[in-house]
Amino acid sequence: MITQYISPTDVKEYAFCPRLIYYKNVLHIYERTTESMELGKEIHEEEPIAHLVPLLKVKQILRKVELTSKQLKLTGKIDYILITKFNEYLPVDMKWADPYYQTAQKHHKMQLVAYSLLIEEAYKTTVKRAIIYYTRARKTIIIPITYTLKNQAKEIIKNIYQIIQTNKEPIVPYTPKCKNCNYLKYCKPTK
Ligand code: SF4
Repeated sequence: MITQYISPTDVKEYAFCPRLIYYKNVLHIYERTTESMELGKEIHEEEPIAHLVPLLKVKQILRKVELTSKQLKLTGKIDYILITKFNEYLPVDMKWADPYYQTAQKHHKMQLVAYSLLIEEAYKTTVKRAIIYYTRARKTIIIPITYTLKNQAKEIIKNIYQIIQTNKEPIVPYTPKCKNCNYLKYCKPTK
């Protein structure tokens, strides 16, 4: 029986590789995540988001906001929520890892979409954009949060609960990211 809600970090990890969910949430094996994911600490400085205040006409910044959705069985803490003078809500996540050729890494983007779903339910609003700040690269990326992305995140949430409920190891192919994955010693991805 499921006693705990999953988090946007789980959504991120599923988007990186569904097997991470099996190892962490079913077998409870906790290896350090790979360098390509989150090696190093997340840096939480306000300075990197200061330039967004005039750019987006921010009237309020909420920090370390914990939100839970009973509907999605999802819970998480958001680094910042920016509220603009037009009452637009934008989640902001700080990442130590590098962007992917000047764009957001796909699994990071899905984490932001999951945060957006939490915000939508909590504040009864529609999230249209989200922000990732890559601290090491000093790069801000604004991501359009589309209807399609929201549906993809909901599908991921459903799939995560299915893995947890069925204890079934997802079948995944070997990809270049496996080479640096600390779960490779347990995992035999199909080559
Ligand atoms: S080794 Fe590859 S398939 Fe296995 S968990 Fe890591 S990324 Fe996923």
